Amino acid sequence: MENKLYTPPQNKSPELIFWFCYPAINSFALSSLGYLWLLKEAEMLPDVCVEKITTDTETTCFMPSEVDLMAFSFSFDFDFLNILQILEKYKIPFRASERGASHPLIFAGGPVVSANPEPYRDFFDFIVIGDGENLNTSIINLIKENKNRPRPEILKLLSEIEGVYVPSLEQKTVIKSTKKSLECIYSTILSDDSFFKDTFIIEVERGCANCCRFCLACFLNLPIRFVPIEELKRVIDLGLAHTNKIALLGAQISAHPKFNELCKYIYEKALERPEIEMNFSSLRVDAVTPDVIKTLVLTGSHHSTLAVEAGSERLRKVINKNITEEQIFSAVRIAKENGLKGFKFYAMIGLPTETQEDIDALISLARRLKTNFAGFDISFGVSTFVPKAHTPFQWFGHENIKSLEKKSNYLKKEFHKLGINISISSAKWDYWQAVLSRGDGSFTQFLIDTYKLGGKSGAFKQAARQNNINTDYYASENWDLNTRLPWDFIELKSPPKKFLQEEYSKIL
Ligand code: SF4
Repeated sequence: MENKLYTPPQNKSPELIFWFCYPAINSFALSSLGYLWLLKEAEMLPDVCVEKITTDTETTCFMPSEVDLMAFSFSFDFDFLNILQILEKYKIPFRASERGASHPLIFAGGPVVSANPEPYRDFFDFIVIGDGENLNTSIINLIKENKNRPRPEILKLLSEIEGVYVPSLEQKTVIKSTKKSLECIYSTILSDDSFFKDTFIIEVERGCANCCRFCLACFLNLPIRFVPIEELKRVIDLGLAHTNKIALLGAQISAHPKFNELCKYIYEKALERPEIEMNFSSLRVDAVTPDVIKTLVLTGSHHSTLAVEAGSERLRKVINKNITEEQIFSAVRIAKENGLKGFKFYAMIGLPTETQEDIDALISLARRLKTNFAGFDISFGVSTFVPKAHTPFQWFGHENIKSLEKKSNYLKKEFHKLGINISISSAKWDYWQAVLSRGDGSFTQFLIDTYKLGGKSGAFKQAARQNNINTDYYASENWDLNTRLPWDFIELKSPPKKFLQEEYSKIL
């Protein structure tokens, strides 16, 4: 059951029919904060009829030929497979150039295409780069008002909006849309079908000021913006009027200047109402204070996550994650003393300049944590470094699969000896992620063939061969600082490319 926390205008006489698609099953759509918020904004428009489409949608009110506009939320690199699946299901040609007046205009938005839209440029009539709130509404209104004009004219008008990229127009520069101040976005639909069952998710802040050199969430969302505390309190109350489950979201929520006040507010609510459950996205070590942990414990969270990223202080400095081992140990001590049962630590392997000593340092860190904090659950989640556009590490390649698998097997063996659980992402899949994240406009047929061949790792390989794509170039090679990057035409305003180059040079 879906409980909408808003009431769209009734009896609309639609001037525009809009399919808003989430490229996964419905339970994932219902857990995606950004998607739900934009869905609400569209549904509140008086003369726009909106349908939520997911990969498991069985019936629709409108025929595809009646739809004027279709949008895809694009949050994960492999989403393109489900996007193509949805297009195929409704018999819509994959390439924008093969679609005509009887087809809807199709666009995408989200972090993947905001960072590097080029591999997907031919699938969409236009792409939203950056923050989508309000911008989507302007786009929908513009299309509604100009519905009867020829498509090229509509696209021209769209290209004049900041943050809109129209690939067919070959714009020289596209400026990313960045909202100056942040309104508080929250789950607008609660559902027991959601992946995060009945959880009211609240965005506390956007971006991060720490600038870890690999981090897309940081560089794509600068400057960091915070929701005012009074607004957060109002929205928490709104959520608690409908559910007992609250989750706070943000790349670095503990950087919120009123984070302690926020925790205190929730703590006091939970004292009055013990059934309240609360969750945070990952904590930074310097945010682990007795009050924060007491709030987590009182609201039913017995475990939390800490991102250490690398085992040695040297490597943490290289990636700009400037936390000391003393801070890590102090965070665990505070957590244990205040009733938390365990931490899952996140780390990466294959980071630039990594040596065997850094891998051994991760094992040593795990060993010492286990010895010093007996009875405290310790586990590790490890992924391989994947270069991301707009970060200082965008010029570095993904380490080769064989060497990463060797490191993974070594870590698994050593962690097994220590009796500590470790999960490590697949180096093979991370390789394909790296290919996509540094891909360019030559990828269209390669991606279509990958989809047609079933979308598994072998399909990527075969499709690359069929289309003469040298995937090692995109995934594994270290690129020269002067290489023309496929996403160079996107202007983030801050930070400039020069800053990224300087950051890159610092570590060499
Ligand atoms: S990894 Fe975490 S702390 Fe570092 S920049 Fe990204 S969000 Fe911030």
